[in-house]
Amino acid sequence: MRPDILNPLFAETESLEGIGPKLKKPMEKLGLTRIRDVLYHLPERFVTRRAVADLDDANVGEQVVVALDVTEHRASRSPRGPHRVLASDAKGNICALTYFGRASYTAKKQLPVGEKRWVAGRLDQYDQMLQIVHPDHIAEKSDGAMGQLVEPVYRLSEGLTQPRIASLVEQSISRAPELPEWIERSTMERHGWPSWREAIAAAHKSENVKARDRLAYDELFANALALMLVRETNRKRRGQPLQGDGHLRDKLQLPFPLTGAQQRSIDEIAGDMAQSSPMLRLLQGDVGAGKTVVALEAMLVAVEAGAQAAMLAPTELLARQHFETLRTMARPTGVEIALLTGRDKGRARESILMGLLDGSIDIVVGTHAIFQESVSYKNLGLVVIDEQHRFGVSQRLMLAQKGRVTPHTLAMTATPIPRTLVLANHGEMEVSRLDDLPPGRQAIDTRVLPVDRLDDLVAAMGRHVESGQQAYWVCPMVRDSETMDNDIAAAEARYAGLRERFGEDVVLVHGQLAPEEKDAAMARFAAGEAKVLVATTVIEVGVDVPNATLMVIEQAERFGLAQLHQLRGRVGRGSEKSTCLLLRSAELSETGKKRLELMKSSQDGFLLAEEDLKLRGGGELLGTRQSGEEGFSIATLEQVTKLLEIANADVKLLVERQGGLSNPERGEAARVVLYLLERDWGVQTLRSG
Ligand code: ADP
Ligand code: MG
Repeated sequence: MRPDILNPLFAETESLEGIGPKLKKPMEKLGLTRIRDVLYHLPERFVTRRAVADLDDANVGEQVVVALDVTEHRASRSPRGPHRVLASDAKGNICALTYFGRASYTAKKQLPVGEKRWVAGRLDQYDQMLQIVHPDHIAEKSDGAMGQLVEPVYRLSEGLTQPRIASLVEQSISRAPELPEWIERSTMERHGWPSWREAIAAAHKSENVKARDRLAYDELFANALALMLVRETNRKRRGQPLQGDGHLRDKLQLPFPLTGAQQRSIDEIAGDMAQSSPMLRLLQGDVGAGKTVVALEAMLVAVEAGAQAAMLAPTELLARQHFETLRTMARPTGVEIALLTGRDKGRARESILMGLLDGSIDIVVGTHAIFQESVSYKNLGLVVIDEQHRFGVSQRLMLAQKGRVTPHTLAMTATPIPRTLVLANHGEMEVSRLDDLPPGRQAIDTRVLPVDRLDDLVAAMGRHVESGQQAYWVCPMVRDSETMDNDIAAAEARYAGLRERFGEDVVLVHGQLAPEEKDAAMARFAAGEAKVLVATTVIEVGVDVPNATLMVIEQAERFGLAQLHQLRGRVGRGSEKSTCLLLRSAELSETGKKRLELMKSSQDGFLLAEEDLKLRGGGELLGTRQSGEEGFSIATLEQVTKLLEIANADVKLLVERQGGLSNPERGEAARVVLYLLERDWGVQTLRSG
């Protein structure tokens, strides 16, 4: 149950003044449904303005506040043209205040001819004349109504304006109660941090490092605490010790010797599975590192010990691929393997369900359908989750709760998460790392090309396809409400263009297609019927088409290093030499340049991930967060690096020395922050365990 003190923060935003039905959509688009969401909608940056006596004292491009006398309105001649208001400063310099569209109505009201007004905005130059386009503020006096000299800039969605969000934030802050302090006193004092309420208020006012750090710490603390609770609960759960005798594994006839890292991981997993507390282990291994065979060995351990194993894949297509691979590899062992997806209906499905219940099926591979209510196992001993990051925590918990005894869990990820982040995201798990690739892998020839070489590129792709090989063409896709539609449009446009050249040989996949359409396109490509797959990043996870040997990535600088690496890993899977072409835009930031250089020079996923972390932590306070992949919405990577260890130590102190959530003071406060930051799954495991 959520602590009562949080109730005002979880009230709907509709209860705020000024929110009508019109704002509902744009608010939802930004995820602002409750007061707490508004409070945590922290500014992306701040504008700093300078009050100037006259425009001689201001520079073009600068944010200023200046007093102007309104002299003339010049309505536009065309309906789409600008409405210009001419005004002069104390020295007689003329400045145009320029409005487009509906804003010109407001201008007429706010800027009567002959009056003096204080105007805030960015000074610009147009046709030899100074101008301010859509001033941020107009006021009759240079007092509070003028706006702050330092002003927050929020992420918007269509229909919302900066002043509107600022007003919602202000109202929300006034409703925020003081919360009990959950941070260890010594930590607070050492950093000089403000209370939660003060921190929220300050973080909306200016670029306040202490306030931001405190809020980031809160998130890390809540996260670490929740993970610790999961871990504790898991330790107390009853598991099933599974000791394989090797009789099935001995029958495997692998066409290759296992690498050292594979063998080590298998030993670690088997060691865990032999214990009576359930395993929670993460197998981390770069694309192509050979995780599947490790998973198979683990599943055979379970079967040898008389239990069943289930393997969960994030998509239908991947489930099918795994099924085929495992069935082929495991044939000599004689174990029964089945595939179960949401598509299976009727008799086929019934017979699989029977087999799982009576134990005649040893291993099942599938999508989340394998964990529906209606699916019962005779004795499920091991769950393998492929591509862990695609599954939320709630799914992890759901899995853990299936059956009277908790099955062992092996999660696998190809995201080469840096060590610091492994701890932050998967602190409840032990980790095995496949840090060497199987021998004989060919390097992927990686090149950076300016985007104006597109024609050459399409020609080269033509030759490539004619020689019988396949290719990926990736367009960027940013998870941002403003640009998302544009990104889809860009992918559609590229698809249309390539289709003119390659006809039916091209297929398109992006996140807004219906799942069946997407699957069908993927399947055609996987079967070799389609030669070119145009996609947004949905191909990232696990697709294995060895005949695809060319990867083109458009606007490569918009991707993070880890993502680029994942994408590149789609090629270089067969015996043919593979190529990855990174198309870059004409304007490239220093960071963008470095990223592409690194991609050219290294193919080591772990190294690239560490470098990525360094590049991104490059001293930006407000930082850039990449599509939530690190699992944090407040803390930036830099803050994670700076504060995670402290948060972990404080959590350890609380749980191990101070009685955890049962501590009369800090325990209650800790419960508050878990709910506030939606890490209450930590509390819920306590109950389910
Ligand atoms: P991933 O870790 O990306 O899931 P896979 O399990 O799909 O990687 O393995 C990639 C390829 O490498 C497969 O074709 C697999 O058969 C092969 N492979 C796995 N282990 C070895 C090994 N020890 N030596 C040689 N090839 C291997
Ligand atoms: Mg895999």
